[in-house]
Amino acid sequence: MNAAAYRISPALAQLHENNYPVIDLHTHLKGGLTLDDVIRRFHRTGINAGVAVNCGLGFAITNDAGIDQALAELRHPLTFTAMQAEGREWVELFTLPAVARFDYVFTDAMTIRNPAGKRMRLWIREEVEVGEPDAFMEQLVASTVAILDREPVDIWVNPTYLPDVLAGDYDRLWTPERRQRVIAAAVRNQVAIEINARLRLPTARFLREAKAAGARFTFGTNNGGRDDLGNLEYGTEMVRECGLKWQDFWVPGLNPTRSQRALAAGQRQIIAP
Ligand SMILES: [Zn+2]
Repeated sequence: MNAAAYRISPALAQLHENNYPVIDLHTHLKGGLTLDDVIRRFHRTGINAGVAVNCGLGFAITNDAGIDQALAELRHPLTFTAMQAEGREWVELFTLPAVARFDYVFTDAMTIRNPAGKRMRLWIREEVEVGEPDAFMEQLVASTVAILDREPVDIWVNPTYLPDVLAGDYDRLWTPERRQRVIAAAVRNQVAIEINARLRLPTARFLREAKAAGARFTFGTNNGGRDDLGNLEYGTEMVRECGLKWQDFWVPGLNPTRSQRALAAGQRQIIAP
């Protein structure tokens, strides 16, 4: 590839020079995007990737055999391979040894149950029953903390996402006390917090507080297809705005994943009994 074919933005070049892990750890092969495209992006832009497969109820992968097949197809020496654990049922669908085969595992708090037991995907308007906003927030924060405490994931992605109907009130609803509770849960469980390029979440204020509390961060896009991958613009903005150092970032492979640690400790189920 000749020099003209490279399109490494000045902001990304600066991250590379300063030892930041320039990896989009939330890349999906959706909308026709192929592993070859992801490798080409790496060569062209300098952004490496973790390619994540969605695993859970209602998704393409619902059992260990599906994990085996995905890993056989997607493992590549230049990229990482990740499990996006979906919904809350995933802990019943897979075994811990299968989950521990991934380079890392992540989840979000976008599928939760309300006090009446209704399963809600927060990005699907028809499923969301918000009711009184502050009561909903308490439930969302409690669910997020329970996920980070119980589920053996390495990254909390799409962090602090709110359903459309509440998103306009984000700054009021994510009170200091609520921010503090989810940040503390991430820190005590050593779960990294994604800086999500597509949703532009979480906010600079949240990231500064999380950094002060000792959290680690990752870059991620959560692309829906081929055309919305971008160049991690929000992440590079937040590095600058919040003074994040390379040491503030989490990278796969530095330490065993949470599921690998649980397995090594003799745990046999995804959730310790
Ligand atoms: Zn995703």
